[in-house]
Amino acid sequence: MTRIVIIGGGPGGYEAALVAAQLGAEVTVVDRDGLGGSAVLTDCVPSKTLIATAEVMTGFDSSHGELGITLACDGSERAISVDLGKVNRRVKRLAIAQSHDITQSVTRAGVTVLRGRGRLGTGGQAADGSREVVVEAADGSTQSLRADAVLISTGAHPRELPDAAPDGERILTWTQVYDLDELPRELIVVGSGVTGAEFAGAYQALGSKVTLVSSRDRVLPGEDPDAAEVLEDVFRRRGMNVMGRTRAERVKRVGDRVEVTLGDGTVITGTHCLMAVGSIPNTADMGLEEAGVKLNDWGQVKVDRVSRTSAPGVYAAGDCTGVFMLASVAAMQGRIAMYHALGDAVQPLNLKTVSSNVFTDPEIATVGYTAADVSCGKMDAVEVKLPLRGNPRAKMQGIRDGFVKLFCRPGTGIVVGGVVVAPRASELIHSISLAVDNNLTVEQVASAFTVYPSLSGSTAEAARQLHIRKRAETDS
Ligand SMILES: Cc1cc2nc3c(=O)[nH]c(=O)nc-3n(C[C@H](O)[C@H](O)[C@H](O)COP(=O)(O)OP(=O)(O)OC[C@H]3O[C@@H](n4cnc5c(N)ncnc54)[C@H](O)[C@@H]3O)c2cc1C
Repeated sequence: MTRIVIIGGGPGGYEAALVAAQLGAEVTVVDRDGLGGSAVLTDCVPSKTLIATAEVMTGFDSSHGELGITLACDGSERAISVDLGKVNRRVKRLAIAQSHDITQSVTRAGVTVLRGRGRLGTGGQAADGSREVVVEAADGSTQSLRADAVLISTGAHPRELPDAAPDGERILTWTQVYDLDELPRELIVVGSGVTGAEFAGAYQALGSKVTLVSSRDRVLPGEDPDAAEVLEDVFRRRGMNVMGRTRAERVKRVGDRVEVTLGDGTVITGTHCLMAVGSIPNTADMGLEEAGVKLNDWGQVKVDRVSRTSAPGVYAAGDCTGVFMLASVAAMQGRIAMYHALGDAVQPLNLKTVSSNVFTDPEIATVGYTAADVSCGKMDAVEVKLPLRGNPRAKMQGIRDGFVKLFCRPGTGIVVGGVVVAPRASELIHSISLAVDNNLTVEQVASAFTVYPSLSGSTAEAARQLHIRKRAETDS
């Protein structure tokens, strides 16, 4: 029986464990904090649970005027409010329950789960070709495991700046916000990538006065520029102070307040500061380089498209590789590693079919080639962007912000990418994702029925417009 040892039980690790067990391997998962990993315990699941409450608040705020809903009570500036302590207790409860469910399903599949810190042992390979993994338990005791293949899926942790050390009370990382009992009155969010934007939007919806400090020209520098523009407009319209091209140099706690010193020397203050300035891979002190596993300049494990590292028998998956920091990609990399290690049919990772979502309001969902790929010549494609303002369902629902954008190849009309900016864009992107994954043409997308009225009608309409444009170009 092939022996597999997996270090790190997040989506990269536990999904791999399930596949390896199904394929008949003897599998051990070593995890420090609990199965589900950061995805379940501190990052993805907690943030989306918090955002679920924020969504209700936004829906309420934006509906009671235009949609004819009136409030019985008056006198208070805001008729509904949030009990953050209660929200955070729910967040933690759900996270623990999900970790527990994952542990149960993994152990039911026959996988051995060990709690502790894992690292590669002995540098090279043993004479029989096997690898050694050393596990150190919380009480300091160690044990050594032999493996035919090892998967490193240890994830990443929040990056901390030396002059902005988190104290867990006023200066926070995204893993610490769930310990707050009261809503931050004035929250400064440093960093306007996906994590910063999601938290800034969520806390604003919950009732905090939010300042978003962004070192770049606009929020979400890695996303579709039109989508980022819509979001930044919405943020500002709702009263957020978005400070572009501004670097936070230092964050200091002063009593019950925080002071953030900006690049030009200006000091802004608030009650809390959330640092969202990227993450660091958990690859230090794991015996990786000693065992021949090459890391890049950021400390991420270098892998190929079937998750192999530079050391024979050692695979890596998920955030520790920095390939595409999403739970879905981590899980896919982990599964691919096991298919490869255990000699099953394997399709190399294809990042061009990954769909991703920014859970702001509106949401921004993306799949396939992007506007940046088209403008730098990486992909020859034509695009159509349809604002949701013209969509009948959007009008009925009072939705003004957002659009559907489709990219297709000029000759064949094959759909190669798309962006949806809308409430629940994460659900709407799937039809475009299917089209990209199956090389469907705009004609095929346009000919499928959509419900009337529906937001997804805009996807079909965008495909029709691309078809017309393609015909006009062929005729001319
Ligand atoms: C705030 C936030 C929100 C996010 N939201 C989403 C989202 O909505 N959708 C999405 O797809 N992605 C989201 N992500 C990204 C997602 O969380 C990560 O891509 C995902 O967690 C990566 O999974 P992983 O298996 O690589 O690592 P992790 O989930 O980080 O798990 C790694 C595990 O390894 C353990 N470990 C580390 N070192 C060792 C060691 N030496 N020995 C034993 N165990 C060890 C850790 O304790 C942890 O349990 C979000 C990220 C953040 C920061």
